[in-house]
Amino acid sequence: AKSRGRNTFEFFSQAINRGVRERLDIENGLRDALKHGGFKLHYQPQIDLTTGSICSVEALLRWRHPLLGVIAPDRFIPIAEETKLILPLGLWVIDRACHQLRAWRNDGIAGVRMAVNVSVKQLQDESFFEALGSIVERHGLSGSDIELEITESAIMENLSRVQALLKSLQDYGITLSIDDFGTGYSSLGRLKLLPIQSLKIDRSFVHDIETDHGNAKICDGIIALGHSLGLKIIAEGVETDAQKNLLQNSGCDAIQGFLIAKPLPADDVAKLITQVNG
Ligand code: C2E
Ligand code: CA
Ligand code: CA
Ligand code: CA
Repeated sequence: AKSRGRNTFEFFSQAINRGVRERLDIENGLRDALKHGGFKLHYQPQIDLTTGSICSVEALLRWRHPLLGVIAPDRFIPIAEETKLILPLGLWVIDRACHQLRAWRNDGIAGVRMAVNVSVKQLQDESFFEALGSIVERHGLSGSDIELEITESAIMENLSRVQALLKSLQDYGITLSIDDFGTGYSSLGRLKLLPIQSLKIDRSFVHDIETDHGNAKICDGIIALGHSLGLKIIAEGVETDAQKNLLQNSGCDAIQGFLIAKPLPADDVAKLITQVNG
């Protein structure tokens, strides 16, 4: 039993060491990629259900670690947040996305806005607003070209700290969306206080609306609630025509998901925009 105890201990301590080691490798990899390059953005289109055209694209980070291979943002973003690397990385994303939108404008692609995900850590940084404004202007864009997506849980846990900043962003013309809506715990009262323009219904409610009556009701409820507060509703993770039709019948304003396109490299999404928007 003694030796088995020791083996179990060794087994776990090795597993823990591997976890710590991998985390460290990711952290060092992030630092290195910030200095020497290594990140890319892909873009996923959003379709306006009233016009059928692509109204926005969402910028999504992509990263291949030199040794560990492709790492999903759900894995490396939390590490970037804990280490504050999200601050320079977040600005890199905004700069890159604005650069891309400017390039499309120069190529005659108009009427499409750029949505960027931001961490609440970025919103808590005093220099964020000024840094964002100077990037937007450097690319000859204006606030109204940009949408920022902030997850529901992050915003609700930090409401008092970020409220003034959200107001400044709104005054600058930026659209603010609550991401992953429905997974947090927004009360109606607090939602009403937030300077936001749209809600993105989380994929977990959308993926089975054809078969899960409960989730279909939740989507209907979010759409009705959002509209009553004057908000635009976007459904994410739409993969089938049936899901699209149900959401359209419930009055959903826009959809995003594999049905339209996966997140794509800039050139591919530009072709799609030209094709769809004519
Ligand atoms: P998110 O903002 O909720 O982004 C949507 C995620 O759902 C993306 O995953 C996208 O590829 C995926 N997706 C879109 N349509 C479908 C669909 O129809 N079916 C399925 N199964 N999945 C779909 P991705 O790119 O892996 O990003 C994961 C998360 O990482 C994002 O979730 C976002 O929270 C975070 N993230 C990505 N890029 C950034 C960034 O630049 N900054 C920050 N702060 N977070 C980012
Ligand atoms: Ca998002
Ligand atoms: Ca989301
Ligand atoms: Ca998410």
